[in-house]
This record gives sequence, C-alpha cells and structure tokens, in this order.
Amino acid sequence: MNRLRRRSARRPYEQTQDGVRRIVLGAGGSGRFSTPPTSPARTAPADTSSSSSSLHSAARTPSRPPLRTTAPATRSLLAVVHGDRGQLDSHARQAVAAAALLALRDTAVHVLVFGAFDGDAAALGADTLTVVPEPLAYAPDAKLAFLLALISRERPEHIFLPDNALPDGDLGRRLAAALRETVAAGVIELNRDSAATPYQAGIQSLRRALPRILLLAPGAVDERLPFVGQGVRISALPLQTSSVFRDLGTRVLPPAEVALEEADLIVSAGNGVRDLDGFHALADALGAAVGASRVPVDDGRFARSQQIGATGKTVSASAYLAFGISGAVQHLQGIKHCRHVIAINRDASAPLIRRADLSIIDDTQRVAQALLARVREARGVSLPREAESAHTSHQEKGRRHG
Ligand SMILES: Cc1cc2nc3c(=O)[nH]c(=O)nc-3n(C[C@H](O)[C@H](O)[C@H](O)COP(=O)(O)OP(=O)(O)OC[C@H]3O[C@@H](n4cnc5c(N)ncnc54)[C@H](O)[C@@H]3O)c2cc1C
Repeated sequence: MNRLRRRSARRPYEQTQDGVRRIVLGAGGSGRFSTPPTSPARTAPADTSSSSSSLHSAARTPSRPPLRTTAPATRSLLAVVHGDRGQLDSHARQAVAAAALLALRDTAVHVLVFGAFDGDAAALGADTLTVVPEPLAYAPDAKLAFLLALISRERPEHIFLPDNALPDGDLGRRLAAALRETVAAGVIELNRDSAATPYQAGIQSLRRALPRILLLAPGAVDERLPFVGQGVRISALPLQTSSVFRDLGTRVLPPAEVALEEADLIVSAGNGVRDLDGFHALADALGAAVGASRVPVDDGRFARSQQIGATGKTVSASAYLAFGISGAVQHLQGIKHCRHVIAINRDASAPLIRRADLSIIDDTQRVAQALLARVREARGVSLPREAESAHTSHQEKGRRHG
C-alpha cells in the first residue's frame, strides 16, 4: 500500500546498514537520493522506481503515494513561500498543501520558493517548483516584480501564502495591492468555493467567496498529502536587486552576542560539565552560542540569560549539542524546536539520549577536548587570541550574572 513517508522532526536521521545514525537534512531524505536538476530549463521529476541509482539507495527508497494527476493542465494555482535553511517550515508546507488539495485534475500546482529548498518538491504536492535564490539585500520590490512576472505568465486562479508577518505575509499584501486583487488574511478554513477568517477575537468566523489571494493562518491545512505532485524543478536566475532600499550590509555578530533564540548552533552545558574552560574553548572554536541547563545556572556557572528550558529560553537551533544534560522535561521543553540534537552523556539511559538524534556515551570533558582538537585540526589554525579572551569574559559575565 502506498503511504506518505513522514520523517519525524524529532528523529531526522536514517539508520545505516552498519547501525550508525546518519542525520538527514530534509523531508524524505530526498537531498541524498533525488536527481539534481539540470539547467537551464525544466527537468523531469526524479524517477524513484529507476534502477539507475545505486542498489543501496534503491533498496531504501520507500513506496510513493500516487501522483495527484496526469491530466494535461489547463489552469493553475500558485503557492509562494520562503525557504528556511534549505527547508520549508510547516506553515510554508501547509500553503503548498492548500493549493494541492484544492487543485482539480486539470490544474497544475506551481510553487515558488524564495531562498533555498533542497527537499522533495513532489512530496510537497508541487507540480512545478521554482527556487529563486534569496538576495542578500532586503529587496521586497525585486521579489514582487519576479512574482508579478510569474503570475502574468502562469495566470494562476488563486495564490496561497503563509500569513506570517515577514516575509510571506508582507509579500502577499504587497501583491494584493499591486494586482488590486481581493485578499483574505488569516484564513483558518477553506474549500474550493470559500474561505473563512476569524472574526471578533476568534469567537466567530466570516466565510466569503474564495478570493484570488489567500494568506493562511498556521494550522489551516493538513500538510500530509495522500498524493504527490510531479515535482518538476524549474531553474531561475537570482533576483535583480535594484532595490529602492539601501543595503547597509550585514554585521556578523560574535556568537556570544547572538540571542540564544536566534542562534543556529548552540553548545549547552549541564551539571555534567565541570571543565568550563574547555567547554567555552569549544564553543568559541565552533562559533556557537552558549546555553545551559538550570542546575549550572543556579549554582553560578552560567548566566541566568543562558538558561534553556521551561523557565528559561526556547531555542530553535539547527544543531544543539548538549553536554552533560540529563534531559529533564523542563529542559526538553526549551529545545523542542531544535532540528538536530546531539547528546553527550556518560549515562546511556538519560532521557536526553532518547530525544537526541545522535548520542555520544562518554565523559563530557573527553568529548569536548577531542572535538576541539578536531575542529582546530580541520581549520588548520590554533584558537585566535580574541576567542581566548572572549571566552574568559563569558565566564566572568556568567559568574557575575550568577
Ligand atoms: C518549575 C521548574 C522549572 C524548571 N525549569 C528548568 C529550565 O528551564 N531548564 C532546565 O534545564 N531545568 C529546569 N528545571 C530543572 C530540571 O528539572 C532539572 O533539574 C535540570 O534540568 C537538570 O539539569 P542537568 O540535567 O544539567 O543536571 P543533572 O540532573 O544533575 O544531570 C546531569 C547529567 O549529566 C551527566 N553527567 C554527569 N557527569 C558527566 C560527565 N563527566 N560526562 C558525561 N555526562 C555526565 C549525568 O549522567 C546526568 O545525566 C526546572 C525545574 C522545575 C521544578
């Protein structure tokens, strides 16, 4: 039976034949097995039944749900989203799913992603996928111009975007103004004829005829589709950014200054970390932000502002390295949005090991030292002086706050 293959956000790994867990970026692990798009024009969808891929990958390719339609398209729907570190978040996937679920047999579902997306377009429900690399500059006008050109070419009947503040919600409102089209924001329910939006603080909802532009509230649509789209990738040139906005450049903050909630890489210490110097040296070498569980915060080893958990901060790093943290439920609450959790603990039965995507059962100090040596070796440099002094000042700051 065909089943939609789902990868748990909490377990984004594959088990290799020799039993090693290998972290996989992207839904369905398609980044490893799909055929890379050939430029410049349209490419065929990845043929998952093909025997041309290695036996190893063929053996592990799961059965796919059926194609939504094979009928020639006479009309289209469009979903517009932004990628987040090469993936689409759940809200973005819901916007694509909305288009796919409302599409009729003769309707093509076009998906436009600003930024990067290296996942499986077909599994999202997309018949065509255009990925436009995000310009470094803030350029909403350039995005709007690209979108208007695409709309005038494909003439989609409806356009779906996630209703977030930035960047999709903003783009959707700009689009409505530019096209002078009707728009429904905060859509909580929709079908082929109508859309419902909340009214009176959510106590009531208003239903109206389906407008051309739909900005969807989170959770309006179930992103798990019982079918796949054709997943044809269309190459696109980067945006021309003759923006009316002046780009003042990007300031790269030292990791210590990055708010924990925004950090992409966090090394976090629990009660099992005693060698603070080694721990901070590793954080500096990795360029990671530093977090901590409550116990070492309570006893003054780290600042209160570094505490992660129910009574601390909620973080959403791509990688969260937890050194000597048991994984009490209050701590797990703070890391539920992290993509990859790596636990270092000498107790294999610690709850964090169950939550982790990768675990190292060993002494924190030994692992930190070994990792530091590998990082320095890989970079071919010894730790710069500024980093040494920076980490000394972290510790001082931590002690002062504690
Ligand atoms: C109302 C309330 C709110 C709370 N809020 C939070 C919160 O926001 N954040 C939070 O983190 N906690 C919070 N807690 C506390 C939480 O319940 C735990 O007590 C705390 O998270 C435990 O921290 P820990 O895992 O670092 O320490 P421990 O429980 O002491 O665990 C240390 C871990 O390190 C391992 N270890 C020890 N030495 C080594 C070594 N040398 N090498 C490798 N591993 C080693 C041990 O095996 C153990 O698993 C809260 C508690 C309450 C009641």
